Amino acid sequence: MLQRVGIIGGGQLAWMMADAAAKLGIDLIVQTPEKTDPAVAIASETILAPIADAKATAQLAARSDVITFENEFVDLPALTRLAAQGVCFRPALTALEPLLDKYHQRSYLKQLGLPTPDFTAMTIAEVQTLAAPDYPLVLKTRRHGYDGQGTFIVKTAADLDSLVGRLADVPLILEEFVPFERELAVMAARSVDGTIVVYPVVETEQKNQVCHRVFAPAIVDEAVVNQVTTIAERLLTNLQVVGILGIELFLTQSGDVLVNEIAPRTHNSGHYTLDACDTSQFEQQLRAVCGLPLGSPALRCRGAVMVNLLGYETSYRDYQAQRDRLAAIPQAHVHWYGKMEARPGRKLGHVTVLLDDETLQDPSQLQERELAIAQHIESIWYGK
Ligand code: ADP
Repeated sequence: MLQRVGIIGGGQLAWMMADAAAKLGIDLIVQTPEKTDPAVAIASETILAPIADAKATAQLAARSDVITFENEFVDLPALTRLAAQGVCFRPALTALEPLLDKYHQRSYLKQLGLPTPDFTAMTIAEVQTLAAPDYPLVLKTRRHGYDGQGTFIVKTAADLDSLVGRLADVPLILEEFVPFERELAVMAARSVDGTIVVYPVVETEQKNQVCHRVFAPAIVDEAVVNQVTTIAERLLTNLQVVGILGIELFLTQSGDVLVNEIAPRTHNSGHYTLDACDTSQFEQQLRAVCGLPLGSPALRCRGAVMVNLLGYETSYRDYQAQRDRLAAIPQAHVHWYGKMEARPGRKLGHVTVLLDDETLQDPSQLQERELAIAQHIESIWYGK
């Protein structure tokens, strides 16, 4: 069995692998830039280096049986040279390659015939010369976007002008604004032998392009679940992924599903699986990349609601009083990432509350209860 897993990236996604690694008898070796990064605390060894430092990844490879990713902002050509020398990456770099640049990712989806918003590659200067721009416009940096960094919903010509300095030399995509009814997401994993498991489809809520809440399962028609499941299976199979994918989608008013984004790793929309599913997304990733049989992705409860604890100030506080109040909510599981510094918008932790109540058979009741819990969590956290 593969026992030493090298992880590129040492943020909370790597940190949350700790319990699964202990359960499976796996050592985690982490490559991450700062010694204060969350996963340093749980790694058996750390290589302190930037994510894109392939020389450091060669050192990581020397200590690991297999390398996987919690962060995909890597130097792919340099890693490809390591792969040619026999380093085992899971997922393989060929699976990552079409996903790292948003233009390539959308083009790949189109080539597979999977639904995605219309898009074109453009510079901001070219966007400015459009004769009759159809506001709102959606501009995205082609690389290195996360948590809405790099995604701009442009409502007016003045908004556009205000971005010119910042985006002058940055490769962008311009895409259609989708007036979605809801946002959905799904996690799906594929093992070495090609077995696929798909987690429940969830509903996500973003504010200013950042995920705030996740509701599991999404209360949607079976036809929608089937569309999402088919998309997940086709992506995993076509990319020959060994590992896990997070897929974010838009649900339109007509009940159609469009793929917004694919992440070749665990994802914020799958954090609820830690407490609510038979096998967490983190265990599933480790199982897949170590060649173990995949676990059941089934929900262990009727529903779950996950709320991100986002920073709202710059401080070095540990927020213990708020965390204690959150932990006192019945069936709440508080995950605190142990980051030294809080900054506005920074993901500091999350809370998942499980719902088991037999009286919640009716989906609208479940939804109502989940919404009330999310509001309660946010009132404790943000103090509103
Ligand atoms: P990131 O890569 O930073 O996560 P995304 O592409 O996922 O950025 O966009 C973040 C959020 O911005 C989405 O969850 C959605 O709320 C909004 N958004 C992104 N693209 C569009 C679009 N084409 N139309 C409408 N809203 C969008």
